[in-house]
Amino acid sequence: MIIAIDGPAAAGKGTLARRLAAHLGYAYLDTGLLYRATGWRVVAAGGDPEDPAAAEAAARALDPADLDAPALRGDEAAQAASKVSAVPGVRAALLAFQRAFAHHPPAGYGGAVLDGRDIGTVVCRDAPVKIFLTASVDSRAERRLKELRRRGIDAIPARVLQDMKERDERDMSRADAPLRPADDAFLLDTTDKDADAAFAVALGHILKIAAG
Ligand code: C5P
Repeated sequence: MIIAIDGPAAAGKGTLARRLAAHLGYAYLDTGLLYRATGWRVVAAGGDPEDPAAAEAAARALDPADLDAPALRGDEAAQAASKVSAVPGVRAALLAFQRAFAHHPPAGYGGAVLDGRDIGTVVCRDAPVKIFLTASVDSRAERRLKELRRRGIDAIPARVLQDMKERDERDMSRADAPLRPADDAFLLDTTDKDADAAFAVALGHILKIAAG
């Protein structure tokens, strides 16, 4: 069983995916981390994340140990991720790893949950469950702000909103694998839902599909 969860930044994909994976005994892959680690690798070496050759080389050199760096959670890594992710060579370099994880999750797991931007449309087009999670840009910016403050980062609200709009725009307008719901995705708007409510709706949908 593969569960694909896509949607814009700070819609709650990670929280939902992690909870579903724990509840169902599935493995979880945060595919955004692969793009963040790629972007961060380029920036850390003093390169330009919009330079296709540097971005693709960083994606090919990615090491699983790179995924643990705390800096990847920050907004600088997010912006770099959204730049390298528009490079087709980067997407191609990361595709095989994601597909292998989805189809052959680590031992002991009964399936896989992947979250990202193109899981239902490109990486796992055959996933039986596809959820497109969204929320208004204001509520997403508010959530991101709270998350940053929880981590002790004193961010400026207008800047967080602006960064989010820029990232959404870049993710939706790129030519290769743009952010959009798959035709057969279940749309879940979390603007007025907390994490518990979103989890209950998503689980209900999955159980309905599993029951055939
Ligand atoms: O989900 P997260 O915010 O960590 O993703 C960071 C960036 O990585 C996104 O803004 C997007 O540009 C890129 N990404 C992508 N495809 C994915 C996951 C993330 O292009 N499957």
